[in-house]
Amino acid sequence: MITDGTLRKSALALFAHPDDAEIMCAGTLSLLRKAGWSVHIATFTPGDKGTSEYTTKEISRIRKAEAAKAAELLDGDYVCLEFEDVYILYNRETINKTTSLIRRIRPTIVITASPADYMIDHEMTSMIVQTACFSSGMKNLEVMEEPFEPVPYLYYSDPMEGKDKLGKPIKPSVYVNITEEIGIKEEMLGCHKSQRDWLKLHHKMDEYILSMKRFAEKRGKEINTKYAEGFRQHLGHGYPQNNILKEILDDLVVVR
Ligand SMILES: [Zn+2]
Repeated sequence: MITDGTLRKSALALFAHPDDAEIMCAGTLSLLRKAGWSVHIATFTPGDKGTSEYTTKEISRIRKAEAAKAAELLDGDYVCLEFEDVYILYNRETINKTTSLIRRIRPTIVITASPADYMIDHEMTSMIVQTACFSSGMKNLEVMEEPFEPVPYLYYSDPMEGKDKLGKPIKPSVYVNITEEIGIKEEMLGCHKSQRDWLKLHHKMDEYILSMKRFAEKRGKEINTKYAEGFRQHLGHGYPQNNILKEILDDLVVVR
């Protein structure tokens, strides 16, 4: 598959909110970038409710700029689908808009939120992206953009803190060793200054960066390295079955 000259080296991280991609998969995106892939980051919302001091309009503008800055560090672009925090719904509008985005970018790899996570926004995102990947090739799902094939490889990131909402641990089946990428991951997450400052005020320490590092360290320990990110691959009917992350990143990927 990798030797196929027609393979589009394009990866899309499509999450609910600005900073989700940085927390969950920035290290892996950086490795893909180094392997010659183009990186795109998109979110369903501008993070319009992630504040206790700004108006909806202000925080949306601030957070979109922060997300774009983070994506730029990987020479990537950032798109916001302009839905609202807490109101990410599985419906015709979100599915069509997401299908349009995927058809425009034509990614070979899509990374999204865990199907089980602490927040419904993340779970809805996961379901919408699952459907939009599948429908990216459906001729009779009519949006402006032309359909394309094959269905992208779909990976789910870890949920927040690696557990579902009942506290049950979610074990990754694919670990990516991001020890060398922890610096860029930290830098990308640091672009989300509004969130970092908010948590700093609340915790009296740099909890935003520290909690990201703690979790990457926990995953790292599970594969005997310093830092790692965890994923599960969508292997349902109709989706590619080979593990393309392993094929691209080789020794840096541990499959469990
Ligand atoms: Zn989120």
